[in-house]
Order: sequence, then structure tokens, then C-alpha cells
Amino acid sequence: MKIDEHVPLSSHTTVGTGGPALAFARPASLAELEQALAWAAERGLAVATIGLGSNLLAADEGVAALVLRLDGELAAAEARDGLLLAGGGAPNAVCLHRARAAGLGGFEFACAIPGTAGGGVWMNAGAYGSDWSEIVARAFVVTAEGSGWLTPQELGLSYRHSELRHGQVVALVEYRLAARPEREIKAIVADLQAQRKATQPTNKRTFGSVFKNPDHELGAGAMLEACGLKGHRIGGALISPRHANFIENAGGATTADCLALIEEARRCAGERFGVDLRHEVELLGPIVLTG
Ligand SMILES: Cc1cc2nc3c(=O)[nH]c(=O)nc-3n(C[C@H](O)[C@H](O)[C@H](O)COP(=O)(O)OP(=O)(O)OC[C@H]3O[C@@H](n4cnc5c(N)ncnc54)[C@H](O)[C@@H]3O)c2cc1C
Repeated sequence: MKIDEHVPLSSHTTVGTGGPALAFARPASLAELEQALAWAAERGLAVATIGLGSNLLAADEGVAALVLRLDGELAAAEARDGLLLAGGGAPNAVCLHRARAAGLGGFEFACAIPGTAGGGVWMNAGAYGSDWSEIVARAFVVTAEGSGWLTPQELGLSYRHSELRHGQVVALVEYRLAARPEREIKAIVADLQAQRKATQPTNKRTFGSVFKNPDHELGAGAMLEACGLKGHRIGGALISPRHANFIENAGGATTADCLALIEEARRCAGERFGVDLRHEVELLGPIVLTG
């Protein structure tokens, strides 16, 4: 397995920002993953695993770590005995396709979540009232010190959160789904995708929701819209005119532009609603945000 140096993370995030990773590798099997972790441990280098970078802001100045993106058999998925077994790097679109072909339902809610199985576990991603904690039977987590299967309870899954820490790699995910005819799955997915298209920016470079929804009658997007922030721009980063809880790369955006916009949005929501919005987007590298 090749380990590259100074790989720009802007090519590995959906928003298209981020500086270089000191080292970058794409392990394609459990054996290669173990080799990569041992390589980093020998050098005292931190390890961070990314999926499709769809909820990620990486520091413009770069990330002093070995960044892993799972590949090969660690990015594949197959249905077996009523279960769906996915590599941590398997895109949700591939998992949905395999589940549908096997007549397994329950994964439809993830049809518009453009991430991977591992990213879904880390974030406990969710939509339309369902989330990963409801479909994950167990996940195989690998570290430099050893590996093992963890249950959703052991992963500490709660609203858009897990207890996983960098250095713990979600290498495999076993989903427990339910028998459902393929045509029903298709109809559910078509309906959810139409809902998504009607309310969110679908053809822009974004990193998904900026903030978690607070415990308040208004969601984060409605609050920021009420603050008049739709269309507000700093550098190349723009609060989506479509949905205020999204930031778009309107051209040449940097991570610093996105962070400045996040701080500004947080300040406005705090002043107007007395609410301390917490960011949902994950941060990689030397980045400090107040919320
Ligand atoms: C247009 C759009 C719509 C979205 N809609 C939704 C939505 O409806 N609901 C929702 O919850 N999210 C949504 N998101 C956000 C995002 O898609 C999810 O959070 C997704 O689960 C992130 O997966 P990823 O593979 O891209 O992870 P990344 O963004 O690459 O990483 C996210 C975090 O997970 C960690 N990670 C990733 N893979 C692994 C692994 N294998 N092992 C260990 N750690 C890992 C990373 O280190 C990072 O901390 C949306 C994003 C976009 C761009």
C-alpha cells in the first residue's frame, strides 16, 4: 500500500476546502489497514479516517496526521443472510443499491446522505426520523492496539454523535434490515429524494448541516433564516439562499471563510434567540470554534 505525502484534502471534502494531509493512504483490506496503523504508530503520528468528506472541514494549513480513506474490500457492501455487511468506506448509495437488490428495507432514510458506512456510524447520521443507531447491529473497529466488534451502545450513539475518537477506524458495519419488496423501497426513496430536492441545496458544494438542531421550537435553519442570513457571504462561503443551515462554496471558498461564517451565524442566533448553536460539521486539524 502506497503512503503519499502532502495530499490536498480539498479533493476529499464535498465542500472542496482544506489543506494537505501530511500523509495519506487508502488501505483496501484489513491487513493493509493494520499496516497503515502500525506505520503511523512507529512514527508517533496521529491517525484520522475520512469517508466521502461530506461532513468535514479540514484546516487550510493542513492536517499533521496520517489520513486514511478506506478502499477496495473496505469500501464494498454485500447482503448476506438478511444482513448487509459494508466496509467502513462503502458509500451509502452502494449500500442502498445492495439492500434494495436483496429486498432489504430500512436503509431508505439514508438515500440523500452522501457519506459512507463509517462516517454514518461516527456521526450517527440520520434523516426523516431515523438514524444509524436503529440499523447498525455492530461495527468492527480497528486501532493500532487491537480490534473488535462494538454494539451501538458501546459506540455511544446519540443525536448526531458517537463516542468514537480519531485512531479508531470503523472498518466494517453490519446492518440489520427488514424484508421489503424492491418496488416499495424504490417508491420510498423517490418520495424522500423529492422532499429533499424541494427544501435543500442539492447541486452545490456543501458539507451538510452546519449546526445540530437545538432544543427549541425552531430548527437551526429557521433561526438563521429569521436572522436574515440567507445569502450572507464571507469570502467564497455563502449561507445557502435555499436553506440557511447550509454553507455553499460559491467559488474559491477556504475553510477559514466557512469558519468565519459559522461564528457569525452562531453570534446572530445567540443574540436573537438566546440559543447556543452547536456545530454538526466535523473539524480536522488545528481548528478552534467557540460552539
Ligand atoms: C448535501 C448533503 C446532505 C446531507 N444530509 C445529511 C442528512 O440528511 N443527515 C445527516 O446526518 N447528515 C447529512 N449530511 C452530512 C454527511 O453526509 C453525514 O454526516 C455522513 O454520515 C458523513 O459521512 P462521510 O463518510 O462523508 O464522513 P466524513 O465527512 O468523511 O467524516 C465525518 C466524521 O466521521 C469520521 N469518519 C468517517 N469515516 C470513518 C471511518 N471509517 N472510521 C472512523 N471515522 C470515520 C471522520 O473522521 C469525521 O470525523 C449531508 C451532507 C451533504 C453534503
